[in-house]
Amino acid sequence: MSVDVVCGKCGAKIANMRMLKSIKDVMRPYNSKCPSCGQTLSPSEFSVDVQKN
Ligand SMILES: [Zn+2]
Repeated sequence: MSVDVVCGKCGAKIANMRMLKSIKDVMRPYNSKCPSCGQTLSPSEFSVDVQKN
């Protein structure tokens, strides 16, 4: 199972998590901004897409 973190504004795939962990930990390397559109992301502004591989 993996989890895609997707920007809620532009739809860019920001990160892929192999396991569930804090969204804040995932976003920390990106300064909590989308690397594609630069939108500052709050936990309510992006989505996670869980996939079974
Ligand atoms: Zn974006």
